Amino acid sequence: MCGIVGFIEKQREDISDVLVNSLLILQHRGQDAAGVITYDRSFHLKKGQGLVQQIFQKKHIQRLKGFMGIGHVRYPTIGPGTGEDAQPFYTNHPYGIGIVHNGNVMNFFSLKRKLWNERKWQVNSLNDVEVILNVFAMALEDFETGKETDFVSNIFKAVETVYSLVRGAYSVILLIGDRGLLAFKDPHGIRPLSMGIKQGGIGFASESVVFDYSLHKLKRELLPGEAVFVDKDLKVFSRNILKNTYRPCIFEWVYFSRPDSIINGIGVLEARKRLGRALGKKIKQMGIHPDVVIGIPDTGRPAAIEVANELKIPVSEGLIRNRYITRTFIMPRNTKRHSSVRQKLNPVMSEIKDKNVLLVDDSIVRGTTSSEIVKMVRSIGAKKVYYASYSPPVISPCYYGIDMTTNEDFIARDKNLDEVRKIIGADLIIYGELKDLASILPFKEPCMACFNNNYPIKPQKDDIEDIEKDRLQWNLL
Ligand code: SF4
Repeated sequence: MCGIVGFIEKQREDISDVLVNSLLILQHRGQDAAGVITYDRSFHLKKGQGLVQQIFQKKHIQRLKGFMGIGHVRYPTIGPGTGEDAQPFYTNHPYGIGIVHNGNVMNFFSLKRKLWNERKWQVNSLNDVEVILNVFAMALEDFETGKETDFVSNIFKAVETVYSLVRGAYSVILLIGDRGLLAFKDPHGIRPLSMGIKQGGIGFASESVVFDYSLHKLKRELLPGEAVFVDKDLKVFSRNILKNTYRPCIFEWVYFSRPDSIINGIGVLEARKRLGRALGKKIKQMGIHPDVVIGIPDTGRPAAIEVANELKIPVSEGLIRNRYITRTFIMPRNTKRHSSVRQKLNPVMSEIKDKNVLLVDDSIVRGTTSSEIVKMVRSIGAKKVYYASYSPPVISPCYYGIDMTTNEDFIARDKNLDEVRKIIGADLIIYGELKDLASILPFKEPCMACFNNNYPIKPQKDDIEDIEKDRLQWNLL
């Protein structure tokens, strides 16, 4: 999971200011690395490892001059996540092109080999965005030197070439020197990307909450297989290059996105509240009578309030989050995850001691966080601990840009409810229902593959082996 932004403003020379501040707003989507590239009459790039505030100082923002630019916050799903692999990536030819993306190229390793074998194009990094950049740049160069001379139709044809070669989930923004910004979504539109407009400027962002800050009006979400080009005079060209079933990632509403974001017209907070109400109804039917409901901060809190309303019992802030510790789910290594739970959360004895406590979480993936939390709550005197997840059991890997790519990642994959309960150490485990999850979106078939094994793009055996080898290699470091 990563966050991307791109802005173009006609009358502006300091676009880096809005880019860096937007990356701060998207920091929850990746805390491993960040970068910005801008353009005035040449390109200006700054990227590095760490949080946005650690990477960008005033002198960098002043140096990153330009009226258009793109930015990225990274969480690595391929490779070790070193500074070299931080985005944006850039190529000199044709025009000079900068690129950022959110997602995952499933056939990254085989495409890398293909580019070398067939064209002697070197993909240097372990970042999958580099193959998208190379495929796009190669195709654009071919079309520009061919008979077709119209630049806009050439870039759309180059995106078509990307679609024909690159398998996976990817939302992409490209900065094309002296020309403008190009944004596109993969043919199933799995990862989010929205467009905003204001007088004299246009923007793209992974989440609409960026536009609340930048004062763009949220125009719309890009469609699956759609590319939008904004030239330097702010003329907008869009083309539906491939029309496929829309299959947006449902986990954006469950966990990834900020609650104040709106994706595809559906508010993230409202979706979590609906899931909480459905969970509350299920718990009521089960005849369980806790004394208090506690949401696991931050994602679990809105649902916990709804569960408490349904059960007509108090909801409490019984777990306090240290705001200066980063999110655990997106921490790459299990040992880091484990130790950070206790740094991140602290239980409040007065809210827990001698009570039957119902904890509400967004999901249970590996069970590492859940078991640590249960231990903490028991250690300060809870009588009983019920653990509820408002999403159903996570059982299958995600190959689309989330760090749960190997089967070993899932506690519920091959265990029944009671086995999961024992490992987590709770008195009871309750999961949300698949049908309630599906009902939060108006789409016929959103991607819910990690819950139901129904993949929009079937992973091929070779790709899975390459991906698993890569992740295991770096997890073992
Ligand atoms: S598999 Fe799960 S996390 Fe991955 S894109 Fe689909 S719904 Fe999202």
